[in-house]
Amino acid sequence: AKARKKGSVSVYDQSLREMVERRLTLENDLRDAIGKGEITPHYQIQVDLVTGAVVGVEALARWHHAQLGPIPPDEFIPIAEASGQIVDIGKHMIACACKDALRLPPNVQVAVNLSVIQIMQGEIMETTADALMATRLPPDRLKLEVTESVMMADPKQPIAVLSELRYLGVSLALDDFGTGYSSLSYLTTFHWDEIKIDRAFVNDLDTDSIGLSVIEAVLVLAKKTGAKVVVEGVETHKQLELLQGTGCDIGQGYFFGKPVPIDMACAQIREINKA
Ligand code: C2E
Ligand code: CA
Ligand code: CA
Ligand code: CA
Repeated sequence: AKARKKGSVSVYDQSLREMVERRLTLENDLRDAIGKGEITPHYQIQVDLVTGAVVGVEALARWHHAQLGPIPPDEFIPIAEASGQIVDIGKHMIACACKDALRLPPNVQVAVNLSVIQIMQGEIMETTADALMATRLPPDRLKLEVTESVMMADPKQPIAVLSELRYLGVSLALDDFGTGYSSLSYLTTFHWDEIKIDRAFVNDLDTDSIGLSVIEAVLVLAKKTGAKVVVEGVETHKQLELLQGTGCDIGQGYFFGKPVPIDMACAQIREINKA
């Protein structure tokens, strides 16, 4: 611990400065992170709640910093969004996901997260089309996930972009439904292929029944629009049983598997889908 003379910075200032310094370091090091091969996707399986088969995987970015070790996406994605580097990271993730999807059974979709920046910035059509072309992955194997923050302010532009993506033949999912500025109207302003209910509601299943009521209400609306419903953050068998009773289509969470490198995801899928 540093000596603290009178007039020296307080512990609070000290840790604030450390936070700022770390952020600057990360922002700076992000610039070469892709080139150095430090950013890679991990994949988390998604399971059909009726058949038990794996029907999809979600690609989640991982950054292994040479000196600092693993940096969580909740830390580096916001930095990348603020600096604009999310565009390159997003491009890299789509390219990796399309390539890795070729190693999965043809009935397994691969989902990639999109930042609102990528939607508004204008390259996403080209990025997606390029990745599909380069890998010859059938477009319906690719799913793009956006959070409802995309629809905030003026939803006209995002809806135009999403409609173009839809025209390419990729699937579109509304992520983290029920969090933040969520509004039920987002369920109907665009024809989503999938609604992903945030894990906070699944978490709630253990303590009260509010979570279950919310899930059931969303389910009714989603079914009207033809969207499949995915529940995130399934961790326990008890949660799974409750969710199976609701008619949710797909489950994702540590109960089924944590995000893992592509080789391990392939092995998990072989193991589960052979049965
Ligand atoms: P998300 O899209 O909602 O992804 C799901 C997060 O929940 C992942 O965290 C996943 O590891 C975690 N998770 C999955 N199952 C469980 C569970 O059973 N229990 C708990 N407690 N957590 C579970 P992760 O990988 O740390 O990613 C955090 C967020 O970072 C993602 O949330 C997403 O918003 C963002 N993110 C990750 N990769 C990318 C990317 O390539 N592009 C963009 N734009 N955002 C990304
Ligand atoms: Ca997601
Ligand atoms: Ca989510
Ligand atoms: Ca999230």
